[in-house]
Amino acid sequence: MTTKNIFTNAQFVGSFPSCENLPADDGAEIAFCGRSNSGKSSVINALTKNKKLAKTSKTPGRTQAINIFSLKDYETRRLIDLPGYGYAKVSKAMRNEWAATIDEYLNSRTSIRGLIIIMDIRHPFKDSDDLLIDWCETNQIPVLALLNKSDKLSKSKVNQELSKGQKRMKDLSTPNQVIAFSSKDFYGLDNLSELLEELLD
Ligand code: GDP
Repeated sequence: MTTKNIFTNAQFVGSFPSCENLPADDGAEIAFCGRSNSGKSSVINALTKNKKLAKTSKTPGRTQAINIFSLKDYETRRLIDLPGYGYAKVSKAMRNEWAATIDEYLNSRTSIRGLIIIMDIRHPFKDSDDLLIDWCETNQIPVLALLNKSDKLSKSKVNQELSKGQKRMKDLSTPNQVIAFSSKDFYGLDNLSELLEELLD
């Protein structure tokens, strides 16, 4: 069953190296976070059905800016592509700068309706992912743990990882979900777009 996907044809608003000059903090936005190479860009491209919207690259660590997209028919609803974190090969100073940008974004915007934390299902819930989950709990922001690249595992392994993820999240008091996803074969796409639409409503 395919439902209407309000994310199709989302438009690029701009790329922001820092939190200065971001679009007005009104309406509703969802932030996409994830370690470099988790497939964050591919998830955004799958959701918006646009292979080129968020840059995907085989070189991790490239997306250093905050990229913002607005939904076609609802311009005050935005998708926020935060810089990927945890890329080992960049300098510590640069890593700190990325962390500061993410931190400033999270702590300055009032229109955030939820965080999507994109993880590789083969090694999810790393320290930096956990920090963001903690931030959601502290700030009572809904959090969606998206286990990407599930095409890389067998169905039973995917289910095992899902239950582990649900256990990890079950004591949170903020609304939360764990889903399996694949930006390669679009597994979980309807589920993802429904959950995100609810958050933005
Ligand atoms: P980002 O750095 O988190 O934005 O990750 P990208 O979207 O650039 O993806 C990193 C690499 O993982 C690329 O080679 C993608 O083709 C690959 N990739 C992303 N999502 C999936 C997926 O669901 N399944 C598989 N098999 N590969 C994926």
